Amino acid sequence: MEIYFLGTNAGVPTLQRNVTSIVLRLLEERRSFWMFDCGEGTQHQVLRSPLRLGKLEKLFITHLHGDHLFGLPGLLSSRGYQGGTAPLTVYGPPGLKAFLDVSLSVSQSRMPYKLEIVEHTGGLVFEDETFKVEAGLLEHRIDSYGYRVTEKDSPGSLNTELLQSYGLKPGPIYGKLKKGEDVTTESGVVIRASEVVREPKKGRIVTILGDTRPCPGSLPLAQGADLIIHEATFAHDLAEMAYQYHHSTAVQAAELAREAEGRELLLTHFSSRYVSQEELTPLLEEAQAVFPQTLLAEEFCTFPVYRRK
Ligand SMILES: [Zn+2]
Ligand SMILES: [Zn+2]
Repeated sequence: MEIYFLGTNAGVPTLQRNVTSIVLRLLEERRSFWMFDCGEGTQHQVLRSPLRLGKLEKLFITHLHGDHLFGLPGLLSSRGYQGGTAPLTVYGPPGLKAFLDVSLSVSQSRMPYKLEIVEHTGGLVFEDETFKVEAGLLEHRIDSYGYRVTEKDSPGSLNTELLQSYGLKPGPIYGKLKKGEDVTTESGVVIRASEVVREPKKGRIVTILGDTRPCPGSLPLAQGADLIIHEATFAHDLAEMAYQYHHSTAVQAAELAREAEGRELLLTHFSSRYVSQEELTPLLEEAQAVFPQTLLAEEFCTFPVYRRK
């Protein structure tokens, strides 16, 4: 499980950074990746990355501002040309379907794959045996959502070497032990499941928030997350401007991470006024003073999501 940034700029693209798109790579977990937001030019950024659109399984839109949305019709069309035939689901706020219906129908775009569009107003938006995605409303000029991705705990594996030392071969007994049942062998030896099943692996939680002012809706999404991705459009000297524009400062993002007792914070969605990585350093330092485990997002860089020990 890794985070990969395709765009980290706010509002408009610059020569240094593109507009928002964040990738959650789930190669080990699902042999696919998920994308959060798709600003204009995202498909071009994908070409410069190791990602292949055929592996894109789900796309989540936080809100319908252009810098998070305008790359979508082009990327969806190109996915077909690049051999993408597996179904794709796009999740986002109401209005997403109308936007895609118009863009794709007037351009007569035909996709060689099943495209499903799911509009939501928060709550549980996806769940299967291994993952769950919940959304919650934030506070922005238009409805903007945050997503909380929860990887479910995976049951502990069997210690097969130990079982084989007892003379037990794979079969129904292995199944019983895996379910936690103790078994007795033909020679009368009792084997306790607790002895031969390893510790379950704790799932990870990643929270990706859309554009927002500090608001009560952020906390339940970020609570206890292993990684929180939060916008930091401005440094704290522009807190007043951040409030007026319905955005956050780096310090405000860090305050949320601290309150939510998150493990790590990644800042993104930087104003174009901060051109170089050097000019972003004050944002990082301000945030780290509040929440030390903070890093700045950087395009084409990979940020692993570590398991808790
Ligand atoms: Zn934005
Ligand atoms: Zn916005």
